[in-house]
Amino acid sequence: MNFKELASTYKTPLYIYDLDYMSAQYKELKEAFKGRKSIMAYAIKSNSNLSVIKHFAELGSGADCVSIGEVRRAFLAGIPSYKIIFSGVGKSDDEIREAIQKDILYINVESEAELGRVELIAKELNSVCRISIRVNPNIDPLTHPYISTGLHDNKFGVEIDAAKRMYIRANNSEYLDPVGIHFHIGSQLTELEPIYESAAIVADMVRSLQSIKIELKFFDVGGGLGVKYNNETTIKPYDYAQAIFSTLKGLDLTIICEPGRFLTANAGYFLTKVLYEKQNGSKRFVVVDGAMNDLLRPSLYKAYHKIEPITESKSELSQADVVGPVCESGDFFAKECMLPTLEHNDLLVVHSAGAYGFGMGSNYNTRGRSAEVALKGGKAKLIRRREEFEDLIALEKEFLE
Ligand SMILES: *Cc1c(COP(=O)(O)O)cnc(C)c1O
Repeated sequence: MNFKELASTYKTPLYIYDLDYMSAQYKELKEAFKGRKSIMAYAIKSNSNLSVIKHFAELGSGADCVSIGEVRRAFLAGIPSYKIIFSGVGKSDDEIREAIQKDILYINVESEAELGRVELIAKELNSVCRISIRVNPNIDPLTHPYISTGLHDNKFGVEIDAAKRMYIRANNSEYLDPVGIHFHIGSQLTELEPIYESAAIVADMVRSLQSIKIELKFFDVGGGLGVKYNNETTIKPYDYAQAIFSTLKGLDLTIICEPGRFLTANAGYFLTKVLYEKQNGSKRFVVVDGAMNDLLRPSLYKAYHKIEPITESKSELSQADVVGPVCESGDFFAKECMLPTLEHNDLLVVHSAGAYGFGMGSNYNTRGRSAEVALKGGKAKLIRRREEFEDLIALEKEFLE
């Protein structure tokens, strides 16, 4: 990849996405589910650029959305309504209403109270809303606490017993059609066992619903497949699918999978330019033009991202913290990273930046968000222009008087 050329054409900081890599990941995962009916519902929050969503739409993907804004993006990018799922722990009445009107595949309900709201709104609209219920199987996904979602002490989903009551209620309602069951136990999963255990619990639940004549069609296994940021061992898509298949004996269900990071993380690069080197006592800092407002994961999760320097420098490597210009001590991309001596305008490539990168960005410190560029068949194309100062003040300026 010619990062120098991309930097000179599009300036820095810059996000670059390799769409061909995303295709390869998508095809590998879809292929793994061969032998059963399946829909890959791309988790839009991992990278919500319209051109990226459109790319997945063209591959036949559906979409998993966690706000009505994401649902609207999915429609705009050409994902068919019957492949769109709306998840999330707190949907507003307006969001529920619009999702029902748009006739998406189903709303993933996350509490008894929410089931009541969905029923009421469907009744007001005189329609029937397809739903699925997010079950919390209480399995430890063995990952970082901020990205685990399948334990009772966090906010996601409902317990098995509550879910059963909800299915019975939904089945008896004129306005609700329970079609699916859902679990999503966390993100960046690198162990197969918790996924298998969760699937087994949820599959048993499907059987117990069958025994009371509630027939579901969709078995939604969520997303969460981990990727390599550093030297993690990851789950092979084939093994993942086989583990899920093994829990579904005797059940004829369409599997819905909601991959996000798996499709996008390692397709993305964040390109940033060196501004200065500085030394505070024995500590070496490399100050770059990108910052935590562009890529938050290192600050938020202490996440590791590989950093590759592009420089003529042949100097010896030494430890440095790579930091941005934002006024926060937490504004860093790497700590104690081995780097050569760098010059003004040398480039650093931050790897694995395609998921939860741009989307978690902000305008903190009145910094415009980066441009985004997509690569396909070796060709680069701008897919979001860099935010200018005028963009940042547009919604405030009229109130100055
Ligand atoms: C975030 C999320 C996903 C995607 O998670 P990844 O770790 O990016 O695969 C899928 N489903 C739901 C419900 C989510 O909240």
